[in-house]
Formats: sequence, structure tokens, C-alpha cells
Amino acid sequence: MRFRTLLVYRSFFWSLFFGCLFSGCLGSSACFGQAAAPAPAPAASAQQLQSAPKGPAYSLPPAKLKRAEALNRDENWLWAIGTVWGLVSLLLFLRLHWAARLSRFAARITQRAWVQGLILLPLLIIAIRLLNLPLSLAGHHLGLAYGLSIERWPAWFWDWTKGLLVSLAVSTLVGSLLFAIVRHSRRRWWLWFWLLSLPLMLAGVYAQPLIIDPLFNHFEPLSRSHPELVAQLERVVERSGETIPPDHMFLMKASEKTTEMNAYVTGFGSSKRVVVWDTSLKKSSPDEVLFIFGHELGHYVLGDVVHGLMMAAAGTLLALWLAFHVAHWLVRRYGERWQVPAVEDWSAIVLLMLVFHVFSIASEPISNAIIRHVEHRADVYGQEVVHGIVADPQATGVRSFQTMGEESLDIPDPNPWMVFWTYDHPPTAKRAEFARDYDPWTPGGHPRFFAK
Ligand SMILES: [Zn+2]
Repeated sequence: MRFRTLLVYRSFFWSLFFGCLFSGCLGSSACFGQAAAPAPAPAASAQQLQSAPKGPAYSLPPAKLKRAEALNRDENWLWAIGTVWGLVSLLLFLRLHWAARLSRFAARITQRAWVQGLILLPLLIIAIRLLNLPLSLAGHHLGLAYGLSIERWPAWFWDWTKGLLVSLAVSTLVGSLLFAIVRHSRRRWWLWFWLLSLPLMLAGVYAQPLIIDPLFNHFEPLSRSHPELVAQLERVVERSGETIPPDHMFLMKASEKTTEMNAYVTGFGSSKRVVVWDTSLKKSSPDEVLFIFGHELGHYVLGDVVHGLMMAAAGTLLALWLAFHVAHWLVRRYGERWQVPAVEDWSAIVLLMLVFHVFSIASEPISNAIIRHVEHRADVYGQEVVHGIVADPQATGVRSFQTMGEESLDIPDPNPWMVFWTYDHPPTAKRAEFARDYDPWTPGGHPRFFAK
């Protein structure tokens, strides 16, 4: 689900101050697409597809289309409200002097700046998470109402609480380091903090599948429950020329919480792995699972996790340099009104969050355009790598996107502006159309990643 993906990113943003640091939003993890499945969808057969090549490659039956359009409208509203509320809540924090009061409160308890941070940062994170709780509730309500989620409210609240605890730990660490550096070097803190952020990002991406993800979901080696599938997947891996040890393939028990289908690549170095949700296995034919896996293998082989990290590093450098200038300007211009005396005062942490939030909104279309490009490349790779293993890669691809899109209530013709701004995958209809039409094995064609 596109919207909930955004919510996750946003919650990471709140917890970490930056949109891109650790969040994976620039591709430290990449997914096949997330979908939900209230009921199995009748898929068009290969014959039907061949007999009607000019029709749309992806469509919804009328009743489902109506529901999908209603969901899309609700999601767009929630996205717009969330974006505006993110800005307004931070502005309120400054304008109503909550940031200044928190800073003074911490200063009354201790003179040591770093201990002040240990008091102020957790309180700030809790306050902001609570201010955003209504939006998170609305997002989960939508998931339940449209049958995309089956997670009951108590379990959902427990996940929310665990997310908060992770935020508290990570944000307090990152915020403390940031302010130690700001106080150490008033003119070059943006550069020093960027340098420090590089190993932090690497550590974050490395640790996510090992420490963070298991907090929220159960994982097990894919070979434990699906040894026959692992054998088939190994055939695809062999064609790719890559070696992925079977113990780097995991099954996630997504069906405990959601009806969504998904698969993704995550981690870095020895923690790098392919994860397939059990929901995807239940709702797809063996050929479709291989097709989904081929897309994931594309991310793995083409080094998308590393590329994502490099892009995140570049984006973070630009954001920090801009934030340095904008934050100093804001303190000069509004410091008195907001009672934020200097960038090195703890109250300025909210001001920095505001600046990073604006950057993250403004850079969203750029990062999404890059991610859409990366996702399309993985689609090309996925279709090529299963050639010769799956009987009809074109028809398999179309069926796969039809099932995924129909079950996640993806509308066939999303608003181009929303695609430009918020989509981190090409629209399902475009992906299905490409899968149907892409056949580089006809005479004169050349596969992009394989000799044949
Ligand atoms: Zn992907």
C-alpha cells in the first residue's frame, strides 16, 4: 500500500530527524510492490491476453474499481493532511514556545548539555509521535475498512509502541551526536555530521534486518517450510550468475497481520537477504513466485542497496548544507519570536526538524523518480532472468501484476501528479503493460542483462 509506506517513512523521519537517513526511502530496501488480497482474483489467461493485445494490460471489475477509487481518494486526503499537519505541528511547537520551554525545563534539571539532550529528546519524540497518532490511527482504520489489514487494534498499538521505543533509542543517539557536533563546530557542523552519518547509515542498514525487522514480524529460513521452492529459486539464481546461499532467503509471516503481498531485498554485506512474504506464496502460482523473486534478484544483483545508500549519502550532504544555511537564517529572522536564541541551543532541534521536514517533502518527487527508475530496471531484469525457466514470462508478469493490483485495490489510472509526487513504483497498469509487451527474444531483440 502506497500510503502506508509513506506513513512508515514519515514515522522514521520523525524518529530520525531526516527523511533519508536509515529510513530506506532512497532504496536501502526495495520491494516488488505491496498489495492486499481480500479474495483471490480471476486472472486473464495467456490466451486471452494474446487475443486482446491492444486492451489494457491491467483493469479492475466495476465493483472493485469503485472501491479502489474510494480508497485512493481517502489515501490522497490522508497524505495531504499528513503533509500539512507535519509542518503545522512543528510550527506550533516553535510559535507556542513549546520547544523553548522544553529546553528551559531540561536546563533547570542539569547544566550538562548532553544530559539535557537525554531529557529533552525523548520528551520531544513522544510529543510529536502523539501529535501524529490520529493520522496513524486513520491509516490503520483505512487498512481495516478496505480489508487490506487484519491486524487487530491491540496488536497494532503494541507495534506502534515498539516503533516509538526504537525511535526513542535511535533519535536520542542521533540527536545527541548532532548537537555535540553543532556545539563543537559552529561553521562546519553540517560537514562533520555528514561524515559521521555515513558509518551510521551503513550500520543502520546492516542492523535493520537483524535487529529492527524481527521486532515487528516473524522470519524463518525459506528452506524450512518451502524446500521445493528454494530448489526452483536456485535455478533462477544460477541463471543470474550470482550466488545467494539458501540461508539468505527468508519467509516473513506477514499473514499474521496483513493480506498484503510483498517481497523485498534488505540488509548490507553479510546481513543482505531476500525476503518473501508468506501471503505472496499463498496467492501466486509457482511461476508467479519465480517472477516476483526475479525482480528481487534484480535488486540484489544490480546492487540497488548500495546504490540507495550512495544516493542517501549524497542527499544527506545536500540537505545538511542547506539546513545549515536555512537554520542560521531562521534563527536570525525568527529566533526572538520563537525563543530560539541560537542553533546550538537545544530548542533549535525543532527548528532543524522543520527544515528537514520541508526538504523531505520537496525532495520526495526527485527521490521517487529515481526509485521508480530503479524499480523499472528490476522489472526488466526479473522478466529476463526467468526466461527459459518460466514457460511464458510475459503472461506470468501480467497475471502477477493483475493479482497484486486487484488485491491491493490499485486504481488503473492514478492521477499523474500523484504518481509524480508520491509513487515509489511505476503504476501497476504501466508495469503490467510493460510485462505484456516486453519480449526481447523475438528476432532482432536484445535482452538488456543477458546474452540470451
Ligand atoms: Zn523492487
